[in-house]
Amino acid sequence: MQSQITPSKHTLACAPRLSVVVPCYNEYESLSELHARVVGVCEGQVGPEYELVLINDGSTDGTWMLIQELCGRDSHVVGVNLSRNHGHQLALSAGLTIARGDRVLILDADLQDPPELLGEMMALMDAGSHVVYGQRTNREEETWFKIQSASLFYRLLRKLVDIEIPVDTGDFRLMSRRAVDLLNSMPEQNRFIRGMVSWIGLQQSAVRYERQARFAGETKYPFSKMLRFAVDAVTGFSITPLRIASYLGIVLGVMGVGLLVYTGYSLIIGETVQGWASLMTVVVILGSFQLLILGVLGEYLGRLFMEAKRRPIFIIDQIVAASREAELGDLTDAQADARRVP
Ligand code: UDP
Ligand code: MG
Repeated sequence: MQSQITPSKHTLACAPRLSVVVPCYNEYESLSELHARVVGVCEGQVGPEYELVLINDGSTDGTWMLIQELCGRDSHVVGVNLSRNHGHQLALSAGLTIARGDRVLILDADLQDPPELLGEMMALMDAGSHVVYGQRTNREEETWFKIQSASLFYRLLRKLVDIEIPVDTGDFRLMSRRAVDLLNSMPEQNRFIRGMVSWIGLQQSAVRYERQARFAGETKYPFSKMLRFAVDAVTGFSITPLRIASYLGIVLGVMGVGLLVYTGYSLIIGETVQGWASLMTVVVILGSFQLLILGVLGEYLGRLFMEAKRRPIFIIDQIVAASREAELGDLTDAQADARRVP
């Protein structure tokens, strides 16, 4: 079984010029169209030397069956089946370790990000960029709430984190082999990939585009997952929330001194401050601040705990790919087990 993120096998003979990596969670309805469009674009831009890595992230709708079928029909397709649903970022991480291409394009299965931008992205990479990311100018047919919350998230993140993460940018991007290897060498469990890519540095550039509506199906990011994603992003790249305690302490301290002066003065002039209500308000506010700060500490501590376990980041159940049989011969038993072609 796959146990760690290991450098990919791109050093093997005949590494394709391009790998297209697509995490798929219940994307049965979009996959055939995705396959057709990616094949069209790749044949046009890079010729036959490309691979399409489709990662099935524990789908329940026949996605894996369709991926296997595509593998049978098209030798460019590499099917990767994860042992269960791991979430978008981990599914993507799994795909990036399997991809062998000199360049790697990350795409969503729902075709919201047009693969047709590949040519423009390749040109920017030819000019020296290691990462070319898609930057959304607008989002078609997404809910008002999704657009506003995403916009707020990107801008808040920008304020909080210490590195430059471009706004309105998802995981849709073309990366050089060097950038992918650097990303794969980062062992963290909570993976906020677009932040990790920014962290790498090197020359990065943007291609602006209009984000399309989903080709089929519904978003796999309900509010709870979006919130989790946002917390992962902030805690993974910033310790500013940990400083909230100090800032709040200072503010409340100043307020306390003010109150002390006020009560002392009232006592002198004979107007003792009364009030159970005001006392309770202060107690409740203080209590809630303390709980908030404990919660923030807990978030960081929980992440430390998860990292300390050193568990595998994802488990691969099976890899199906006609093009990978030679590679399987090169691997150790344990790795080959994880990558066995049936
Ligand atoms: N996805 C995944 N695992 C998950 C959730 C999503 O692999 O647990 C994939 C999904 O199939 C899609 C991509 O991640 O290819 C982005 O998901 P989605 O389109 O639902 O997100 P949105 O575009 O709405 O933010
Ligand atoms: Mg989408």
